[in-house]
Amino acid sequence: MRAIDVHVHPSTAPFCYERRWGKEVAEFMPKYYRMEEKIRTDEELAEEFRALDIKALLIGWDGQAESGYDTSGTNDEVAGLIKKFPDVFIGGWAMIDPWKGKWAARELERCIKELGLMGLKFQQSAQGFFPNDRRFYPLYEKCVELNVPVSFHTGTTGIGAGMPGGHGYRLKYTKPVPYIDDVAADFPDLTIIMIHPAWPWIEEQIAVLLHKANVFNDLSGWAPKYFPENLKREINGRLQDKFMYGSDYPEIPPKRWLDEFEVGGYKPEVVKKVLYKNARRILKLAV
Ligand SMILES: [Zn+2]
Repeated sequence: MRAIDVHVHPSTAPFCYERRWGKEVAEFMPKYYRMEEKIRTDEELAEEFRALDIKALLIGWDGQAESGYDTSGTNDEVAGLIKKFPDVFIGGWAMIDPWKGKWAARELERCIKELGLMGLKFQQSAQGFFPNDRRFYPLYEKCVELNVPVSFHTGTTGIGAGMPGGHGYRLKYTKPVPYIDDVAADFPDLTIIMIHPAWPWIEEQIAVLLHKANVFNDLSGWAPKYFPENLKREINGRLQDKFMYGSDYPEIPPKRWLDEFEVGGYKPEVVKKVLYKNARRILKLAV
């Protein structure tokens, strides 16, 4: 096994850009990033990861209250892919709109107990909320009760990037301090994953990782050759047990991420930790 990719968005039809973000973003984003949205079959998706010898965690989608798009069924889709290709897909993150109140907590319980997913994932810009808003604390309590990790997007987002007004998406929700730091302080038994290098707040991210033993980081969404020096120093040094590989597939091709990271000047033991050892330990993955 070359790596465990903790951050993969399925590129199959139920997860297409238009369904998640609407027609305007779906048309604009590929042009902005000079890439093409390619819809794969379930088999093609599994084969892509199998060919690279990568095990992956898949992510559902739900940002209905803030962005207005109904993506119901994507948590079930994720569970279906895991069931169909257990040799490649070893777990899944439920994504649940926190504004859906009591339904959200029930859906979390269903995703973990019935669908067998392993954690809860948020994208606060797409979902329009501050993590430390106490109205959402029942969801984190549920995570503690179910003994599952929660992950929060940090830093800027590709959704709406380059569009007038960022197409209404706001960056303020994804700042590590105080929003994620508060949740970590209030829930010391909750395993929290910050997603992406949190640019323009990487220093804040490093501070939270140093200060809160229950907070970790997935390095998805950035090509490793553009990692800033302070982040590289922490990955190679005192925070080497906190970082996990994630690609943010299909936006960042896993092969590119791994090829760049492996020649990034990291110690051999650190490379192994980031590529799979830390994920195994932090997310309790039996692989
Ligand atoms: Zn992502």
